[in-house]
Amino acid sequence: MTDVVTEIEQQLAAFSRDLTEPGDRECLRCYLLRMLEEFGCDNTHRWTERWRSLRAPRAQALLRRLAARGACCCDCEVILNVFRDYPDTGRLLPCAGVSRAGSTKPCKLGAEGTRVGT
Ligand SMILES: [Zn+2]
Ligand SMILES: [Zn+2]
Repeated sequence: MTDVVTEIEQQLAAFSRDLTEPGDRECLRCYLLRMLEEFGCDNTHRWTERWRSLRAPRAQALLRRLAARGACCCDCEVILNVFRDYPDTGRLLPCAGVSRAGSTKPCKLGAEGTRVGT
C-alpha cells in the first residue's frame, strides 16, 4: 500500500516538474508566457530564474540586464517591458526555438515575429 502511494507521489512530482520545465530549445519569452498563463505571477522572477538556471546557467547577469530594461521586479514585467514584440495573435504560439542552447534572445515567431522591436 505504501508503495502505491509513493509511486503516485513520484508520478505527481514528475508531472509537475515536466509542466514547469522549459523545453530544450524553448526561449525565455515563450517559457515565461507559458508559465504566466498556467501559473501566474507571484511578483518575483521565479520563472525567469528557473529558466535561467536550467537553460542558461552561465547568464549570470540576465536578471540585472532585464531589470535595466524595465523588468526590475517580476516575470510579467519581462514580458511587458522587455519582450514587447510578440505577434498580436491573441493566443500563445508554439516556441520557434532559440538558435543556440543557452541564448537569452527570444525566438523568431513567423513573419510577424520578425518585426524589429526593442
Ligand atoms: Zn508580475
Ligand atoms: Zn520562443
